[in-house]
Amino acid sequence: MKKPEVTHPQDAVIRSCLKCRDHFESTWPGERICKRCKSTAAWREG
Ligand SMILES: [Zn+2]
Repeated sequence: MKKPEVTHPQDAVIRSCLKCRDHFESTWPGERICKRCKSTAAWREG
């Protein structure tokens, strides 16, 4: 049995949040805001 091809996810990297400057685990390259700040939804300007 062959496993379906999966793009193995990138390892989580530690980034500093653009909002609170806190360090958080970013699971994808475009993630720049920590989950806590994201949850506030206030980081969206405009
Ligand atoms: Zn944050």
